[in-house]
Amino acid sequence: MGLAIVTGGSRGIGAAIAERLAADGHDVVINCASSVDKAEAVAEKCRAHGVNAVPMQWDVSDHAACEKALAEIKEKLGVPYILVNNAGITRDGLMVRMKEEQFDDVIRINLKGAYNMLQLCGAMMMRAKQGRIINISSISGMVGNFGQINYCAAKAGLLGMTKTAAKELGPRGITVNAVAPGFIDTDMTANLSDDLKEGAKKQIALGRFGKPEEIASVVSFLASDNASFITGQTIVADGGMI
Ligand code: NAD
Repeated sequence: MGLAIVTGGSRGIGAAIAERLAADGHDVVINCASSVDKAEAVAEKCRAHGVNAVPMQWDVSDHAACEKALAEIKEKLGVPYILVNNAGITRDGLMVRMKEEQFDDVIRINLKGAYNMLQLCGAMMMRAKQGRIINISSISGMVGNFGQINYCAAKAGLLGMTKTAAKELGPRGITVNAVAPGFIDTDMTANLSDDLKEGAKKQIALGRFGKPEEIASVVSFLASDNASFITGQTIVADGGMI
């Protein structure tokens, strides 16, 4: 079993992924933007599975910070075998009213942040000639969504990056795939209006939002030997919405 890095792992889907990968027997670095206490609480749960789990704070949108964090990880824990690009934000608003910083912030964190980690970890994994990279995209990036032009652009961009990285890293035995969740019960969807939530549920074949663990299990599969011949793909986990 190898070392996994989960970005934005202090809560929601990222926390569930960290715990699942720990249950699978991987050591885990739990990255967070600011809440080290929350990341430590997730690490504690991971350690219950008998693995090493380390909370680490850095901003994924800051290339120099990613470089520094990865150098420290390599020195103290070794080369990562799994990278899960999960960190993400929303800054919703209709396109015609969207402020420039709303657009820029989402692209900077959701797309550039994933690129920073992909590029730096990809180089380390290439030298190790092994690795699994899983990018958390969204069905919004596949079908579009009202009020989310920034988020949809970032999540669609992530799918293009996934396919390109799969081609460039494949010859070194590294797989790169994406998961596109639908509506999942986390802090990110907690403040949506009840009307919007009920409307969304009517469009979901299974009639409910997903649980973070239901995304973590897809990541676990893609990180496992069972997915050894799958790369450049996107697995949609949306309860039958799109
Ligand atoms: P969340 O808001 O609960 O968690 C996001 C995490 O990312 C947080 O831990 C946050 O601290 C971290 N983060 C934000 N900016 C960061 C930065 N600059 N550097 C490092 N970490 C940063 O959201 P979630 O619902 O758990 O979403 C996780 C991922 O899944 C996101 O990429 C999101 O876009 C995607 N997603 C979520 C849903 C959903 O319905 N919840 C659906 C599709 C895709």
